[in-house]
Order: sequence, then C-alpha cells, then structure tokens
Amino acid sequence: MDFEHLLRGAALRVTRPRVAVLTAVYEHPHADTDSIIGVVREDLGEVSTQAVYDVLRALTAAGLVRRIEPPGSVARYESRVGDNHHHVVCRSCGAIADVDCAVGHTPCLTASDDHGYAIDEAEVVYRGLCPDCSTARSS
Ligand SMILES: [Zn+2]
Ligand SMILES: [Zn+2]
Repeated sequence: MDFEHLLRGAALRVTRPRVAVLTAVYEHPHADTDSIIGVVREDLGEVSTQAVYDVLRALTAAGLVRRIEPPGSVARYESRVGDNHHHVVCRSCGAIADVDCAVGHTPCLTASDDHGYAIDEAEVVYRGLCPDCSTARSS
C-alpha cells in the first residue's frame, strides 16, 4: 500500500504523522484513538495526542478513513471506506468485525414507512458474542 500516493490523491500534504496514522489504521482495523496513538508512537516516537486527533480528523474528512461509533463504544477508525458495510460487535469483549451489506447497496433496509423522506442510509449494528467469548462461556 502506497500511503504517500493515497495522501496525494486526496490532496493532502505528505507528512510523517499522516503516513504513520494512515498506516496504523490500515494495519489495525477498528482501532480506537488510544490504540492508534500507541502504534504511532512506536513508529515515530513522541507525538502529541492532539496531533493524532488532528490527523485522524483530516484523514476522515478526506475520505481516506472511516470513523465508526458503535453505540456504547468509543470512536474507532477503519480503512475500508466507500462501501456500505456494517459491523458486528461482541457484547462481551467489544471486538468488532466487518459484515458486508445485506443487500449490497444503500439503504440496505427498507423502512416500513419512509414518511416521505428520501432515505439513503440505514445504520445497522449487529450484536452477539464473538467466537472467543462464546467458547469461553460454554467451557
Ligand atoms: Zn468477545
Ligand atoms: Zn469495518
């Protein structure tokens, strides 16, 4: 993955923090801000929390990363943008996995009554127990 190319393609100047944050999001899908800060610091050394927040905001605004905020969870970031995929969240440990859109296009769910709105999005979060947690429970 050529991160510098990605940044330039989004008309963002290439800086080391931007490359480091983008790399962290690609390598750790659904990571929260704290874990991204940890990964970036391993890579670059001292980087302020604010700098990482600023880079995440710029990357999200440019459409290079997607910010997701499952109810009851802190914001998380992923590199899979531009499709209508959903997430399954483990009720016990909070692990998150991608689930392809059930229908393949937005809005994925047909509202029983659209009240005259031109609906173009449905936010779906699946919940349950991840394989690790269900194994732990049954043993
Ligand atoms: Zn779990
Ligand atoms: Zn995802």
